[in-house]
Amino acid sequence: MGFEEERKRMVEIQLRGRNIKDEKVLRAMERVPRHKFVEKDCQKDAYADRPLPIGEGQTISQPYMVALMTQCLELKGNEKVLEIGTGSGYQAAILAELAKEVYSVERTESLSRRATKNLQELGYTNIKLKIGDGTKGWEEHAPYESIMVTAGSPDIPQVLVEQLSEGGQMVIPVGGSYSQELVVLRKRKGKVEKKDICGCVFVPLIGEFGWKE
Ligand code: SAH
Repeated sequence: MGFEEERKRMVEIQLRGRNIKDEKVLRAMERVPRHKFVEKDCQKDAYADRPLPIGEGQTISQPYMVALMTQCLELKGNEKVLEIGTGSGYQAAILAELAKEVYSVERTESLSRRATKNLQELGYTNIKLKIGDGTKGWEEHAPYESIMVTAGSPDIPQVLVEQLSEGGQMVIPVGGSYSQELVVLRKRKGKVEKKDICGCVFVPLIGEFGWKE
């Protein structure tokens, strides 16, 4: 089976077969070549129902988790999105298919470099990457209509709430270092409304307003 066919099956079985209903999210997951974001010897497993190593002890989330988190943001197409934890750049590519501009911060330089290469090769022009501590957000381009944190945080960094626009939504795994709850929050009239989505397991968010090294 070729990669394209594997990707179609992934969408049908792992996503549509569960609770991913947003057609735009499903189409984005069908378009972005996930195998281009994993290491060569992992490519054969790129469309499997699980996370995969991307180097530096980090992982690219399971396709279902990428789709679920994206669906939570209810993107319409004109948003400026902030992602914390660029990793391979795969999630940034999915977001770039569905929003106007994507800003993504990664603390590990080698991962950010590789992500730049991956995204350039695929021709994305609406993604900007930065190396640094994403728990502090990316002040320069704030506010963002949507924020996605792809590493587990001990709690919700207040700076990120501040960089979210009025009516904007943030999706973030919150909890212990081994398991977390995926939380969606919306900022309304300066207040924060929270909704728990499901349990999840992410690598730790390490930084000033996350876990200490
Ligand atoms: N979204 C990525 C996977 C993320 S894995 C993808 O699609 O491939 C989580 C990433 O968060 C790791 O690359 C890790 O280095 C990064 N990370 C952890 N703490 C961070 C912080 N404070 N700021 C930015 N990136 C961070």
